Amino acid sequence: MSAVNNPSSVTVIGLGPMGRAMAGAYLDAGYHVTVWNRTASRADDLVARGAVLAATVDEALRANEAVVLSLTDYTAMYTILEPAVAALDGRVLVNLSSDTPEQAREGAAWAAKHGARHLTGGVQTPPSGIGTQEFGTFYSGPRDLFEEYEGLLKVLTDTDYRGEDPGLAALYYQLQMDLFWTTLTAWLHTAALADANGISLSELKPLATATLTGMGQFLDFYTPRIEAGDHGGDVDRISMAVASLDHVVHTTRDSGVDPALPSAVLEAFRRAAAEGYQDDSLTRLFEVFGR
Ligand code: NDP
Repeated sequence: MSAVNNPSSVTVIGLGPMGRAMAGAYLDAGYHVTVWNRTASRADDLVARGAVLAATVDEALRANEAVVLSLTDYTAMYTILEPAVAALDGRVLVNLSSDTPEQAREGAAWAAKHGARHLTGGVQTPPSGIGTQEFGTFYSGPRDLFEEYEGLLKVLTDTDYRGEDPGLAALYYQLQMDLFWTTLTAWLHTAALADANGISLSELKPLATATLTGMGQFLDFYTPRIEAGDHGGDVDRISMAVASLDHVVHTTRDSGVDPALPSAVLEAFRRAAAEGYQDDSLTRLFEVFGR
């Protein structure tokens, strides 16, 4: 099979929940879609909708110039593509597998070595948002390549090009993940604390939502101060945070809930206090963490 340079034709390799949603979005948009997955049965629904299941990775690569990868990580990409590197020449790999910026840079260099061009992507939506413009995906890599393929990328989500360095999309993605995981885990901890005290998650929901939504105001207030290097304790102080977090840890412990999460946060503030910053704002942690 020879490569088809057809703007409405695409190969999707990797059919986890994400890859299946992506292949489905291309089918919905009228694309001719070739798919491949280690566990072939995950392609059944897509094949029923008109996708072509390639018998081999080599065949999947040769079917189209544009190849979307949706894999657990870059290691999975090497595992899958190494045996078929001869078919990489001339391909455009849109790599939507998340990994570290360094892995993305190495992946782009590896692709180039085999004659393929590489765009790194960091998808910021669960599978339910694929096929809409409600959410965005960070992209990085050659700008001309991004612009050439933007139409294909827009079928999946809105696009947010971050620059030529292949690591950038992964970096911006990891920034969001840092915030996402710690915030969502904080909510789950709060939910366990509420539950241990007979308060339902439904009752907690509007209260938790108000607190999380209100975080934007804190960011508005603190961002310019941090950027100006102003950690003055005029509205809040590290010593207050230590006392407050100590109450949280004790309430958690008294409720029979694992206190490891708030204890870790308390430790960060205690460290700042021990370094002599007890009268500074909580924003001093920006520097304490960064060192
Ligand atoms: P999964 O981990 O469920 O899907 C993984 C895919 O990678 C499957 O096709 C799986 O094949 C394949 N795979 C994994 N390891 C190997 C291997 N060693 N050899 C061959 N194939 C392998 O991930 P998702 O579909 O949920 O997500 C895909 C990517 O998108 C991930 O990088 C994820 O971080 C990212 N992402 C996911 C989001 C989500 O909500 N799901 C949100 C934003 C980004 P098989 O089917 O055979 O197991």
